[in-house]
Amino acid sequence: MLRRVLYIDLGKKESWVEERDELFERWLGGTGVATQLLLEECPQGVDPLSPEAPIIFSIGPLNVLFPVVTKTVAAFKSPLTGELGESYAGGRLAMAMRFAGHESIVIRGAADRPSYISITDDDVKIKDATSVWGINATTVGFILREVETGVGRRSIIRIGPAGERLVKYAGIIVDTYRHFGRLGLGAVFGSKNLKALVISGTEDVEVPDPGRYRKVYNKLYGIAVQTDVMDKYHDIGTSININILNQLKGLPTRNFQSTSFEGAANISGEVLADDYLFRKVSCAHCPIGCVHIAMLKTSFASHHEFEIRKVSYDYELIYALGSNLGVSDPAGLLELIEACERYGMDVMSTGVVLGWATEAYERDLITPQETLGVPLQWNNIEGYQKAIDHIVGMPNEFYAALAQGVEKASERYGGKEFAMALAGNEVAGYHTGPASIVGQIVGVRHSHLGNAGYSIDQKAAKKQLKPEEMTDAIIKEDDSRGVFNSLVGCLFARGVYTNENIIDALGAIGIEKTQEDLDDLGNRIFEEKYRFKRREGFDITEIKVPRRFYETITTMGMVDPGTVETMLEIYRERRGW
Ligand code: SF4
Repeated sequence: MLRRVLYIDLGKKESWVEERDELFERWLGGTGVATQLLLEECPQGVDPLSPEAPIIFSIGPLNVLFPVVTKTVAAFKSPLTGELGESYAGGRLAMAMRFAGHESIVIRGAADRPSYISITDDDVKIKDATSVWGINATTVGFILREVETGVGRRSIIRIGPAGERLVKYAGIIVDTYRHFGRLGLGAVFGSKNLKALVISGTEDVEVPDPGRYRKVYNKLYGIAVQTDVMDKYHDIGTSININILNQLKGLPTRNFQSTSFEGAANISGEVLADDYLFRKVSCAHCPIGCVHIAMLKTSFASHHEFEIRKVSYDYELIYALGSNLGVSDPAGLLELIEACERYGMDVMSTGVVLGWATEAYERDLITPQETLGVPLQWNNIEGYQKAIDHIVGMPNEFYAALAQGVEKASERYGGKEFAMALAGNEVAGYHTGPASIVGQIVGVRHSHLGNAGYSIDQKAAKKQLKPEEMTDAIIKEDDSRGVFNSLVGCLFARGVYTNENIIDALGAIGIEKTQEDLDDLGNRIFEEKYRFKRREGFDITEIKVPRRFYETITTMGMVDPGTVETMLEIYRERRGW
C-alpha cells in the first residue's frame, strides 16, 4: 500500500510527492498522520489566515476498501478558535484521493489571484478561478462539474462567498451535500485565494490476500445492512432526535433559554420525511444512504411559477436554525439552511450566533441602527435571512463582529453569559447534562463528536453514573475516536467497527495490530493534538463556561457548576496534566 503525501505550494506554483512510510507506520493514517503533518508544517503562532498556515487532508488505510469508511479529515489552524482546526467530510473525496494515489495532501502558501487546484493522479494544475470568484458554493460545483474531467472517480470541494470574505466559521462544500463544516476551513481556503479543489484518479487499490479481504468485507457489510445497528440513519436519519431530545428536555431552544420547544413536532424528522423528503443519498462506498434531501418548492412569480431547491438536513441543522431560533415553520427552516449552503457557512455556528444576537437585541444590547433595521426576533425567518446576508456582506461593524463568531461578538457587545460557545467553538444541539459540557471543553476540536458527551449524559440519566465514571467514559471515547478517525470511518458506523472488527479489517489488508497497539495509538494521537493546541495557546484551565449552561434544565436536571469543575479536575488528573 502506497503511503504518499502530495505537497502543493500555491505561491510557488509547485507540487511534488513524497513517500512517507515512517509517518504511516507510526500514525496509521487519517487524523494520526494529519496531526503530525500539521505539527511539521504549521509555524508556531502563525496567523491562521496567512499564507504560512497550511491545510492538510488525509485519508486512512481502510478508505474505499471497506463499507462506511468514507471520510477525509482536514487539519489546519482554526481562524475561529486560534488553535487546532479539525473537520471531517464524507462525499467522494476519500475515494478520489485513494484513486489518485495520495493518502495525504498538504497545501502551502497562497495564490496571487483567485485559483482552484485540479489534480489527476500526480498531475497537479493551479488554474485561474477569477470568473467563479463570488459565485455561490452550489453553482460553482455545477460549473466545475462541466469543465473538469474524471467523472465517477472525482470529488469537487469548494467555498462560497462566506469563505472568500473570511467569515471565521465559513465551511467547505464537498460534492453533493457533504461538508467540512466546522472551525473555519472555508476562511482558510479564502485567505489562500483558493476557491476549489478538484481531484480524480485512475489508480487501482490492491489487497495482499483477496480471499481474507472478501471474508472480512462481507462480514462488515452484513453488519451494516442486515442488522439494526445503522437502521436509524437510513430511516428517519439523525433528525429523529428532535422529538426524542425535546421529550428528554435536551433540545436547545431560543438560545438555550429552554430545552423543550413547543414547535418541535413541526420541524421533526418525521414531519420532514412525510412532507419534504424526496431522496436519500450516500457517500461513496457507503450502503446506508443517510443524507436526507428535502424538496423545497417556492413560488417566484405569479401564474404558478415555481422553483425547486434541494436541501439536505439533519439533526444539527434543525436545532441550530430551528429550535435554537424558535423557528417552527419547516419551509422557513429549509430556506435558512439553503442560504447557509449557498454562502458556504457552518450552520451550527450561524444558528448559535443568530441565537445570541436575537437575545442581545431583545435585551437592548444591540440597537436597530446596528442591525440596519433587521428585526432580529425569534421565528422571524425573513429577518434571519437578511442577517445571514449581512454576516457575509459585513456592511457594518456589528455584522463584521457576528462574522467573527459568538465569543468575539459578545466580547464587543456584552451578553457573554449567554454566548453559547465552549473554548471558542459554537456549541452543538445537546443540553443533556455535565458530560456534554465537559466533553466539548476537553475534546480536541471542542465539538460534540470528539467524545459524544451528550450520549454519556443520556446513559448517566438512566444509570446514575458518578462524575468519575462519566469522566472515564469521556477519556475512553476521546482515545478510541482517535483510532477510528485515523481510518477515517464514518462515526455513524461505530457499531459496525468494534475494536475486534477494526483489527480484522486492518489484518485483511496486511496491517497487523493488537488491541494494545490501538489503545496506545489512540492515547498518543490525543496527546499530540494537545501538543499542538498548547503550542498555539490553548489552556484548559482558562475556559469559561457561559452562565446559561447552568440556568436551563437539562436531561439530567439542572447542572451544578461544581460537578463540571470536579469532572474537569478528574480529567486533568487522569491525563496526568
Ligand atoms: S452513514 Fe451517512 S454520512 Fe456516514 S458514510 Fe453513509 S451516507 Fe455518509
